Amino acid sequence: MATATKSLKKQGSDLAQSNRQIEILSNGIFKSGELSTFKDKISETNQFPLKANKLEILQINVGYMCNQVCDHCHVDAGPDRKEIMTRETMRQCLEVIKNTSAHTLDLTGGAPEMNPDFRWFVEEAAKAGIKDFIVRSNLTIIRANKKYYDLPEFFKKHNVHVVSSMPHWTRGKTDKQRGDGVFDKSIKALQELNAVGYGMPDSDLRLDLVYNPSGAFLPGDQAAMEKDFKKALLEDFNIQFHNLFAITNLPIARFLDYLIASENYEDYMYSLVEAYNPAAVKSVMCTNTLSISWDGYLFDCDFNQMLELPVNSKIKHISDYNEELLEGRNIVISQHCYGCTAGAGSSCQGNTTSV
Ligand code: SF4
Ligand code: SF4
Repeated sequence: MATATKSLKKQGSDLAQSNRQIEILSNGIFKSGELSTFKDKISETNQFPLKANKLEILQINVGYMCNQVCDHCHVDAGPDRKEIMTRETMRQCLEVIKNTSAHTLDLTGGAPEMNPDFRWFVEEAAKAGIKDFIVRSNLTIIRANKKYYDLPEFFKKHNVHVVSSMPHWTRGKTDKQRGDGVFDKSIKALQELNAVGYGMPDSDLRLDLVYNPSGAFLPGDQAAMEKDFKKALLEDFNIQFHNLFAITNLPIARFLDYLIASENYEDYMYSLVEAYNPAAVKSVMCTNTLSISWDGYLFDCDFNQMLELPVNSKIKHISDYNEELLEGRNIVISQHCYGCTAGAGSSCQGNTTSV
């Protein structure tokens, strides 16, 4: 993969349009019947329609701005993206957080820390006493500007669970996927997180890493990879962390663009369909998660948010939130969902569910 410098949106690419992406995913090898659609596939084991169960995780996307422009990004995030959640929408989210049955709050982006109201929101949300409070950090933001240098202390103060992207333990593979200099900054950020107690073996300050492949292939065995990452990062940089989540890249946004440009799209879709695991369907992220966009709209997951596929419910916006009405809704699916059911299953937390 070559490293991009601008989002697809800024480039004016037609793939920045969600309907163009859905068109690609709905036609070709799926329309001709060469491969089964996701709907037909899950119907084979009577798992259609996929239903939302009780809400456990509220995932809030506070904006698409990011200091990086990673090639695989399903958000098409970057410094040129200006979509940012306002404090007013954050207030609406806080009302929901205080009254929801969800035990996990998951803040994502872009780089969520770049939202000017990020710290205010974390402080307010932390008061709600939610059990697991995740921030998805790309690590380099901690070293991007001195105004972010104290983030490790800030995370610690609010007992935030840090989930960080780390594509590889080598400089070459990391920088190839995420841009020059990303590896060195990520290593420094991890050392700083360790220094305040994050990721240490008996520490309650959770630090997990996310791995995703740097090309048109599926991730290997998560447990084996975690072992390799732990060994290499400890030996080479004295870094410790808790768990590694291996995530399959979903064929949307910049990863879809890469697949098409490198003529790997059909082969990749074949790999996903071949790796389809019917047992993984029941635990895909959308069955217990609700995703909220920067402007307050509701989606079954962050991927559907990027494809602009809203929830199948009369409740569409956080300002009208009603947990009872949202529970039991039919999940909106398409062929990108094969990315969540390949192998052991993966969506936003590796083998259990972008940074
Ligand atoms: S993958 Fe994460 S770090 Fe990379 S551009 Fe997207 S949001 Fe930013
Ligand atoms: S992409 Fe994954 S999490 Fe999203 S709706 Fe499809 S199966 Fe569910």
